[in-house]
Amino acid sequence: MEVKEYAKRLAAANPAVQDVIDRKETIWINDRLLPVDLIDGLCQLVVSDEDIADAEDRLARFAPYIRKCFPETEETGGLIESPLKCIPNMQQKLADRENVDIPGMLMLKMDSHLAIAGSVKARGGIYEVLKHAETLAMEAGLLTREDNYARLADDEMKKFFGQYTVQVGSTGNLGLSIGIMSAFLGFRVKVHMSADAKQWKKDMLCSKGVEVIEYEDDYSRAVEEGRRDSDRDPMSYFVDDEYSVDLFLGYAVAAHRLQEQMEQMHITIDEEHPLIVYVPAGVGGAPGGVCYGLKRLYKENVHVFFTEPVMCPSLLAGFASQRYERANVHDFGLSGITHADGLACASPSGFVTRIDNNLVSGDLTLNDDKLYDYMRMLMETEDVRIEPSSCAAFIGPVGLSRYPAAGEYCRKHGLTRERLENAVQICWATGGRLVPEEIWEEYLNTRL
Ligand SMILES: *Cc1c(COP(=O)(O)O)cnc(C)c1O
Repeated sequence: MEVKEYAKRLAAANPAVQDVIDRKETIWINDRLLPVDLIDGLCQLVVSDEDIADAEDRLARFAPYIRKCFPETEETGGLIESPLKCIPNMQQKLADRENVDIPGMLMLKMDSHLAIAGSVKARGGIYEVLKHAETLAMEAGLLTREDNYARLADDEMKKFFGQYTVQVGSTGNLGLSIGIMSAFLGFRVKVHMSADAKQWKKDMLCSKGVEVIEYEDDYSRAVEEGRRDSDRDPMSYFVDDEYSVDLFLGYAVAAHRLQEQMEQMHITIDEEHPLIVYVPAGVGGAPGGVCYGLKRLYKENVHVFFTEPVMCPSLLAGFASQRYERANVHDFGLSGITHADGLACASPSGFVTRIDNNLVSGDLTLNDDKLYDYMRMLMETEDVRIEPSSCAAFIGPVGLSRYPAAGEYCRKHGLTRERLENAVQICWATGGRLVPEEIWEEYLNTRL
């Protein structure tokens, strides 16, 4: 694959981009990062704090329904929420193995274990499907805000939703989340899967009555075809991972939930106790929404980095080039092919690259072999299983200590030694719970 002119020009001006072209692990620091208050007006114009609060309220309205249909959410009262876990043994092992110092407290946000979909997609994906269902039911006069939403499990409602179709393009996990939730509500569902999608995810969807359409092509093509198919059918709704604001809102709600969780654990976040978060990125929706929500709450006291495979750093490409969705990893001479199936998106979301343009701190890349090493390390040290794509997050704390550019970022943003010692570093575990046993075996034995 040939390196495009724009990519060459960028590389000449920015060593991180040269690393991308050279297929070397790197850290890209966002020079366009701005104080949140400086861009408050524009942010609120697009996604306001009220919008996020509204999404949170909507999820609360659905809680009785979710609780009734998915007993695994009993403990959280029908909210789809995950544990936040200290991982001191992993912190030690990671530091030793990588020969770096990891200051502060390392934690794992276990969206890998979210109910229903077993991945971070249970936030955005399920939120969007629920909102669509609510809108249809309300328009038809079958539901009001004051109703107990547990009613939605009635046969009559399922029959009503059965007239409609929900469609989505996916590398796997979004399809699982949209597919499972939509099918449960009674919708007809079509999931357009890219070539990267794992067979077991397709099988699981088929077993739930979801129509799976496979493409021999990448994620962008699956989305394009799905969008076209859906546009032809007035009864069909397309969940658009590349542009959806509703998906984004579902992810953004994570921030307030995390804040409550940390408060319960008596963890303070302020200037002296900063929060540093690392989220694996595919097309950008999940990390983008989480980043946005966290920046609204913690402003300059939170630093959010995305993490991506060396062969598929699409968000990095979109931000660094300012070409947004018009950037493609192929333009940097990269195949986009990676073992991190959840992160295999060659072009980033145009929405996320724009709205997080001045909010994200940077992006770190890692080689595929590390995904499996970190996965085994986490199992050995903390007895937690998360899928390889999720393990991209662990390059975050390693890179923050390793790269001179990261040290410069810390100096520039007041992350002194002392504050780093007080910091909470969170690796966002984005998937894993639904992985079948035989696939775990395969993962465990993969050494690249
Ligand atoms: C989808 C996914 C991500 C990234 O989410 P995007 O919205 O595509 O950026 C990360 N990890 C896993 C396991 C995923 O399934």
